[in-house]
Amino acid sequence: MSEILLSAKNLTKRFGGLAAVNDVSVDLQRNHIHAVIGPNGAGKSTLTNLLSGDLPPTSGSVQLVGQDVTGWNPEKISRQGLGRSYQKTNIFLPFTVWDNVRLAAQSRQPHAARWFRRANDFVAINDRATRAIELSGLENRKNAMAGAISHGEQRQLEIAMTLATGPQVLLLDEPLAGMGVAEAERMVALLLSLKKDHGILLVEHDMDAVFTLADKLTVMVDGKVIASGTPAQIRADADVQAAYLGE
Ligand code: ADP
Ligand code: MG
Repeated sequence: MSEILLSAKNLTKRFGGLAAVNDVSVDLQRNHIHAVIGPNGAGKSTLTNLLSGDLPPTSGSVQLVGQDVTGWNPEKISRQGLGRSYQKTNIFLPFTVWDNVRLAAQSRQPHAARWFRRANDFVAINDRATRAIELSGLENRKNAMAGAISHGEQRQLEIAMTLATGPQVLLLDEPLAGMGVAEAERMVALLLSLKKDHGILLVEHDMDAVFTLADKLTVMVDGKVIASGTPAQIRADADVQAAYLGE
């Protein structure tokens, strides 16, 4: 049986007269990658902000790991199991890779302010950080300064920091942006390996990567879903070709 980790129903977000996200439903199951694609301005980033709690929806609902999290703040949604990467903005460049990941792990500890008093928390934080470093393939860069590693490795570090919070769902907005071919291949391999334990909702422009990675695709144009299905179904969809892929 497939386990649904995330289910958004009929989400709408209005900015004044503009429906940036218009009656969008998406779901995500464990061990799947669900990619959301669409041209600039389609509403993809707004959708991720609705799912992470960074923006409240005008209407609609979000279920995450068996809980209705509609209207919850990002902190609470993160604790419920959603890990979102915020494109480098969370990386402390003068700190080592390890310290960055450890800080991320610590930030999600229920008693973060008093963590140092609790031996069990200390062990749990270190274990989560170690595991996140292993999963993201950064073991050999652990002691490097975050500012000294390559662009691709910094993107891996963002993933490691997200993993350190112990998420079941990963919400990734353009993890391949700005990458060269070799870096992109490494990130694709990393994302595939993360399917083993997670569900991944991916916004990505690199269509080769999207069609390699995705188990399911949702195509948005002007705030609306115009098609949703398997990669083969989306490739064959005339509306999608006209609106997007044929561009
Ligand atoms: P995408 O990520 O697919 O490129 P966005 O979600 O960023 O699309 O934007 C969708 C639409 O919503 C665009 O027309 C954008 O200008 C508009 N928009 C996004 N954020 C805001 C905001 N905070 N206030 C007003 N309009 C916004
Ligand atoms: Mg965007």
